[in-house]
Amino acid sequence: MPEGVAKVVIVGAGFGGLETTRTLRRVAADITVIDRQNHHCFQPLLYQVATAALSPADVAWPIRHILRAQKNATVLMADVQGVDTAQKLLHTNFGDMPYDYLVLATGAMHSYFGHDEWSAFAPGLKHIEDATRIRRSILIAFEQAEIVTDPIEQHRLLTFVIVGGGATGVEMAGAIAEIAQQTLHADFRRIDPRSARIVLIEAGSRLLPAFPPAQSDYVRNTLMHAGVTIMTDTMVTKCDARGVDLNSGRLDAGTIIWAAGVVASPAAAWLGAEADRAGRVKVAPDLSVPGHPNIFVIGDAAAVNDAKGRPVPGIASAAKQMGQYVGKLSPRALPAGLSASRSAICISAISRPSGGALRW
Ligand SMILES: Cc1cc2nc3c(=O)[nH]c(=O)nc-3n(C[C@H](O)[C@H](O)[C@H](O)COP(=O)(O)OP(=O)(O)OC[C@H]3O[C@@H](n4cnc5c(N)ncnc54)[C@H](O)[C@@H]3O)c2cc1C
Repeated sequence: MPEGVAKVVIVGAGFGGLETTRTLRRVAADITVIDRQNHHCFQPLLYQVATAALSPADVAWPIRHILRAQKNATVLMADVQGVDTAQKLLHTNFGDMPYDYLVLATGAMHSYFGHDEWSAFAPGLKHIEDATRIRRSILIAFEQAEIVTDPIEQHRLLTFVIVGGGATGVEMAGAIAEIAQQTLHADFRRIDPRSARIVLIEAGSRLLPAFPPAQSDYVRNTLMHAGVTIMTDTMVTKCDARGVDLNSGRLDAGTIIWAAGVVASPAAAWLGAEADRAGRVKVAPDLSVPGHPNIFVIGDAAAVNDAKGRPVPGIASAAKQMGQYVGKLSPRALPAGLSASRSAICISAISRPSGGALRW
């Protein structure tokens, strides 16, 4: 890198961070991509790993391999722990790293609504390790049910509870029903895997609350047809090693999967920035952090409205669009008062997308 080019540090090589990096591929900048994992995880297909339809290698790709042809980008595996905005330093478990521009694309994680102890019994689905843990739990439940002779214990082992009727919960319930009904039914002698009970629990009044009611109805009917029991208006009040307590009673289960809530990574705390209820940084329409024109938060870690004033959802395409947008910001469009090294981020050939607010 020639002297004086801007140091751009991108934290997170998920959908948002990778898209920012790729968009900056022809820019004279010294880009560092930091992730605590050495791989990019394609989260939309994790449920297929969790139900043994795909192997982990199908949904995880080494970040440095993805970026191997991008000479202006260096990949470092490290855990980011904070930001000193005054000194423009990123704190990592390997020491501090200076930046001129910082893009935080650190995503979100599952939330147990203050009951983190439930994670020991009810794994969420976010990482490869979660998917393989759930897969092991599902397959071992069938194995143990084949061995035990007590019908009550057999019934418990063959009960699979999914907490949360959003997209992930719906996908998991459908996929477990499919393996129980179709994939495994001829493989066992003492049990009939088709007798497995798959229970999808949702605290609200319908599945997929973020989608139109007609789609909720369609999904509900499809899942019920596949053999899934759906319990709406039902709250889980406790998870333990043998099942869940509900506001309507007890449900014993061999496998519990948590798909009920997400909370953003702690980027807001690192920056001392304002956050919404899900912990997402309330960014400006250009995705910069108010008061910090050289720091951007994108993807699931950011709270921003679309051009119609609706909150941008936490989905992969939105994270990618935000990554592209930030990668295309022209230095001329950034607020005044930038240092010489900052303006050396030579992306003047690419103009800032027109219009103040983002369009999706
Ligand atoms: C099971 C599941 C299914 C989904 N299905 C769909 C779907 O079908 N369609 C869809 O559009 N969206 C889907 N999504 C949502 C989609 O995956 C997210 O919206 C998207 O991944 C967000 O991208 P991101 O870049 O903001 O964060 P992520 O893709 O989550 O990437 C964040 C990255 O930051 C890294 N990181 C976090 N904290 C640190 C730290 N402190 N230090 C270093 N690195 C850190 C992480 O290791 C990770 O690589 C699904 C999500 C899940 C969990």
